[in-house]
Amino acid sequence: FMILTKKLIEVRNILMSIDHNEALRLPSIVVIGSQSSGKTSVLEAIVGHEFLPKGSNMVTRRPIELTLIHTPKSKEEYGEFPQLGLGKIHDFKHIQQTLRDMNLAVPESECVSNKPIELRIYSPNVPDLTLIDLPGYIQVNNKNQPETLKEKIFELCEQYIKEPNIILAVCAADVDLANSEALKASRKVDPLGLRTIGVITKMDLVEPEVGATILRNSDYPLHLGYIGVVCKPPENLNVQKNITSALVRHEESFFRSNYVYSQRGIQVGVGTLRRKLMEVLEENMAKSLFSIVGAVQAELEEAKYQFKVQYNDRRITAESYVAETIDSIKHNFKDFAHSFGKPQVRHEVRTMLEQRVLDLCAELYWTDKRITDLAKSSRDDLYWQYKLDMCSAALTKSGIGRTSTQLVVDVLLANMERLASMEPLNNHPETSRKILNFTNEILRNKFHTTADQVENCVKPYKYEVECTEQEWAEGVKRSISLIEKEIDYCNKALQHLKTTVGQRKLRAAIKHVLDAEKEEVRRQARLKDDSSDDHPDALPSASTVTSPQLISANNIVESNDTVRLHVSPKLIEKAHEAIFLRDRAIILKYRLAALKSRQCKSPENKQYCPEAFLNMVAEKLTYTAVMFIQVELLTEFFFQFPREVDNKLVYDLDRKQILQFAKENPYIRKHLELQERKRKLGEVMDKLNYLVRRQRDIESTKAPT
Ligand code: GDP
Repeated sequence: FMILTKKLIEVRNILMSIDHNEALRLPSIVVIGSQSSGKTSVLEAIVGHEFLPKGSNMVTRRPIELTLIHTPKSKEEYGEFPQLGLGKIHDFKHIQQTLRDMNLAVPESECVSNKPIELRIYSPNVPDLTLIDLPGYIQVNNKNQPETLKEKIFELCEQYIKEPNIILAVCAADVDLANSEALKASRKVDPLGLRTIGVITKMDLVEPEVGATILRNSDYPLHLGYIGVVCKPPENLNVQKNITSALVRHEESFFRSNYVYSQRGIQVGVGTLRRKLMEVLEENMAKSLFSIVGAVQAELEEAKYQFKVQYNDRRITAESYVAETIDSIKHNFKDFAHSFGKPQVRHEVRTMLEQRVLDLCAELYWTDKRITDLAKSSRDDLYWQYKLDMCSAALTKSGIGRTSTQLVVDVLLANMERLASMEPLNNHPETSRKILNFTNEILRNKFHTTADQVENCVKPYKYEVECTEQEWAEGVKRSISLIEKEIDYCNKALQHLKTTVGQRKLRAAIKHVLDAEKEEVRRQARLKDDSSDDHPDALPSASTVTSPQLISANNIVESNDTVRLHVSPKLIEKAHEAIFLRDRAIILKYRLAALKSRQCKSPENKQYCPEAFLNMVAEKLTYTAVMFIQVELLTEFFFQFPREVDNKLVYDLDRKQILQFAKENPYIRKHLELQERKRKLGEVMDKLNYLVRRQRDIESTKAPT
């Protein structure tokens, strides 16, 4: 019978899940009244359950949008909070507690919030209705309530009592209607009382004649009239599970015992109130039907148009997006895996070891003042033999296992970080974090075994390194190319200095530094002469071999001179740099010549060609390290990663998480939301079209009579 209300309530709930657009609003019943006027009791009497929070301390702080859904075929009675997703709640005490918690979550300082709580109650014993419970009007503020509370409540109610809503103005019989805040508020927005129903509570507290006078509706007339109720069950019946029957019996006997209440034109009882509400709502729904059809139609057209223009009518699902994203992660990973194989690992490890060889040569050979004697030294000169052994040991015993493994792990991590921050993962920070976490985990698990394996296998080289003629020749070739590169680097750096400082300025500064050095050497010699008669050997030429210590020593001397000669410390620094580069280039050229000489053609003469020897050792270390890193680390990582993607990213996702993931991408979120909006509006439109046809049929059958 009330099919229109039922269907339109469904429509209303769908529309509410899309947005709170004013144009798409269907009427509901808004309950207003002063605190303690009996609002709560009336609502509970309509529902037939105690479910609203009670207490003196402002327990209703947010609007409660209550949807009652009549379920004639089911015995089940339960509530649902669609915003919370808690599922069906059969215990009404639990509903009451949840409402209390949600209300009290509004801080005392704000006291009221206009964010509604949605609650649906399904039961065979309720009519189809939408009711909105609002905070009660207050007379005076408590001392810990905000000053503005009275106005805030007033404004909140004002928002809800607008058209097309129906106003249920609750007034207590024992309070003069002239003072009713509810009636005052409703009269402002509905002066003729066309959509206001008066509910007079606590009829048991006034004399029947007084009560009847109020209900006769003459002092403050309302088109829809007043209904008197008694919503307080007798004390001894307080602990009833279902309060309806007790209430109804109590109320019925109350009104029956006073004959005035059975007079014509007087409406009493919760039952009457319920019927009235249903009728009025149905009537208003019917009135709203055509306007809502127009509004929904317009919204639907707009959504369709946008969907066409923005997405070319392409439908997507969160699931397909997740699948595509995972595919693309794996695809990017595969690309990277293809681009990072043995040759790339070899390149990384070799570059690192070559740098170490260069450092060792610089430290132990190129800064050695006796380096120019090397070629002429005898084969069993212990000094050079010892030096070569030291160099070789420094290279082989430097923890190649850990450093080479760490190096490759670092390169892998850097690349994984790159993958994690680019499309499509840039939209999914949480997933990126997960990926980096399990990348770390896999690599951590593999690190020690790989490092140990490498270290074990390079162990023999710590004692002896043998090589073939071929390997030696390779070493020579490599060292030549390395030194050539190094010379090139020195020249370029020198050239850069010249151009940035200015050639003449630099030359003058160099001269200044060298003069100061000579002066210092002479001074030292004089000091030595004074203290002993020994003649020192040929003075070391500080300019050909500049050890770092010497440079810093000069700096100190220089900074004193600077003041006198007006050469800035900055320039002095540049001069030292230039001297260093020039000297390094000279020695390197000298070493280059040695490496290219006949002496370096045979491994027998390794002592004379430390650069070639060390390069040969580095190459052997590289070969061994790469072999194990490839097997133990790379292959394992490339195998495990995609499996972890499946295990940790995909398999444990439920529907909600999939949707959440998809919506992390703002473009996809918009697309999904518009698609969903279009779908829901379409669904609403179908329901509305059916109702419009039905309504026309009803009117055409009425017409002839
Ligand atoms: P609200 O603050 O407007 O929600 O009012 P309540 O429903 O909490 O009622 C306030 C007080 O009035 C409570 O103590 C109720 O028991 C009492 N009350 C409500 N309805 C009636 C009624 O019809 N008769 C009597 N005697 N008391 C009632």
